[in-house]
Amino acid sequence: QNRIARSAGGSSRKDGIDYNAANFEWTHELKTRMRKVFGIDNFRLCQQGVCNANMDGRDIVCVMPTGGGKSLTYQLPALLTSGCTLVISPLISLIHDQIMHLQEAGVEAVMLTGSVSKEETKRIYARLTSPYGISDGRPSREIKLLYITPEKFAKSKTFQSMLTNVAGAGKLARVVIDEAHCVSQLGHDFRPDYKKLSLLRQLYPSVPILALSATCPPKVLEDLLKTLKLRPVVDSQCAPAEGTVYFTAPLYRKNLHYSIRPKPSSAQAVIKAMAEYILEHHPNESGIIYCLAKKDAATVAQELYETSGGKIRTGVYHADVADSDKENLHKRWRKGEIQVVCATIAFGLGIDKGDVRFVLHHSMSKSLEGFYQESGRAGRDGKDSDCVLYYRAQDAARLSGMVCGDVEGQPKLYDMLRFAHDLKQCRKIQFANYFSISSHVSLSSWATEGEGALTRCGHCDNCARDPQTVEEKDVTLEAWQILRIAEAIKKGGGLETLNKLVDLVRGAGGASFEAKTGGRKRIRGKCKVPEKTGLDLEEIAGGKVGLSKEDTERLLVELLMSHYLIEEFKPTAYSTNVYVSPGPKAISLTRWTRDEVEHRTQRPLRCHFLKKTSRKSKVNTSVTQTVPSNTASRNGKKKTNRITSSDE
Ligand code: ADP
Ligand code: MG
Repeated sequence: QNRIARSAGGSSRKDGIDYNAANFEWTHELKTRMRKVFGIDNFRLCQQGVCNANMDGRDIVCVMPTGGGKSLTYQLPALLTSGCTLVISPLISLIHDQIMHLQEAGVEAVMLTGSVSKEETKRIYARLTSPYGISDGRPSREIKLLYITPEKFAKSKTFQSMLTNVAGAGKLARVVIDEAHCVSQLGHDFRPDYKKLSLLRQLYPSVPILALSATCPPKVLEDLLKTLKLRPVVDSQCAPAEGTVYFTAPLYRKNLHYSIRPKPSSAQAVIKAMAEYILEHHPNESGIIYCLAKKDAATVAQELYETSGGKIRTGVYHADVADSDKENLHKRWRKGEIQVVCATIAFGLGIDKGDVRFVLHHSMSKSLEGFYQESGRAGRDGKDSDCVLYYRAQDAARLSGMVCGDVEGQPKLYDMLRFAHDLKQCRKIQFANYFSISSHVSLSSWATEGEGALTRCGHCDNCARDPQTVEEKDVTLEAWQILRIAEAIKKGGGLETLNKLVDLVRGAGGASFEAKTGGRKRIRGKCKVPEKTGLDLEEIAGGKVGLSKEDTERLLVELLMSHYLIEEFKPTAYSTNVYVSPGPKAISLTRWTRDEVEHRTQRPLRCHFLKKTSRKSKVNTSVTQTVPSNTASRNGKKKTNRITSSDE
């Protein structure tokens, strides 16, 4: 097969082919069919380029944002090519949708999934393998698109060998892998069945592969190429004859309005905040709330319904929900009978609902890729939509425990944390920086279409924020105090969670100046629990840290991200507990005396805080800015510093 020769007349150049051009022999036909079958007048983003490379029989990786229109890049060429295009897609519900749309458009599309009967499967096999699309001795139209799940390919040898026959007869036009990042364990959504897709190139060496994804950082891309046995990527504007043609589209979606909101400390208050937000900004509009765990999704759904007095109709979606219930939920959500789907990240791949007006995150995602993709399910119809993350440092600790065994789990989480933590930088620019460093996506692909340089979006929370409401403070002394206390706890053989440490360094809470240090006691013969002993804040740190609870939390997160503090993990029977202790950089601060810290000119730590007046969420004003007197603090009698009640 001389694939390149076909396009030689069209757009070949000395240095390669420009697949983004519009002068290929098939250009006219592509456009005509696109209008006629799909009712679409113009290509979007890199659709035309992918169609061209597809028509030219190339291996392709295409990274395009959710809602960008990836399906068209294989559905349209499939109609113009002889033979069948095999589409591997992760979700049955998505496959159903696609088949329905295609059949309505008069396209011969079928699926082979668990729900297809034996007879029907046989008939499909016969149609695929018999010459001229004849089955049962009767002529039938050629199947243009065949959809399967990765499981089908991974688990069915019969299917694999049937496909060998089809490929052998030159009737397998292409294999398309949707959500291709699931191939890689380094991605945020690895699926074991995708691993088996490495067989594709081995079994059908001459069949071109198209890998589609909305998110593909360089490591994932590398891994994906290796797993699928694809050659290294080449530029789509001057593609040599060999190599995988790589496409990316501008990733910035102007209609999405990002904001991070402080997450109240009690679970109830979070629900109340969400209910108020939805009723105020999106009454009767569809939305999704992403939660960390199945249990959270169920609780949030239940309580949101109750708190809103039944005004917000919710549904639950996670891995353990029965398939029939999932399908039912999808249907009712699409019809508007359910307003808000409370879900884990299991809900998402291939949601085909354009008018999702808001995506709320009940907790941070495990990575910025994940967050980008989940929030990107809003506004696929191009209309204004909101993406709101409820952020609280404490969630980071919980997530840390969840990702501590993952490859790159912690650095990815910290990138997410940095994003959530940032009070200054435009969200679009943060995404752009993150994805350009972590992937082959150039910074300019984040620029608004028609705009050359990357500029602030002008409508995210940080762009909308009055700069006067953020102050940058020197926190070298406070950091020193925190690290001294953390060090003392560590020396005493104890460990504290981030949350406890916040209370502790502020001398807050009932157990004011007690920390778990020293004298370990054996309990139930197994786990060692350090006994509570007094910790003299005055002696160790010269008093309490004079920051509010929120600001102390901010500072602790800052210290974690800059490795003054590190996390330690202790597995329990049910989960992994996460504690904080002094990190490698701590000693550079703690070796100073308090006096030195106060008077040194070199002050390594500065941190952004929201000014008090700009905080509307907290009415409580008992924020202590001064270090209280020794006696009061040592006796632990003052409990007034406590701002919020205990967490959860
Ligand atoms: P993705 O798979 O990239 O998330 P889809 O292929 O599901 O996106 O397409 C999202 C929506 O955009 C679909 O409703 C589709 O019909 C529509 N669409 C695709 N291409 C175009 C285009 N060039 N112009 C207008 N609408 C389009
Ligand atoms: Mg898609």
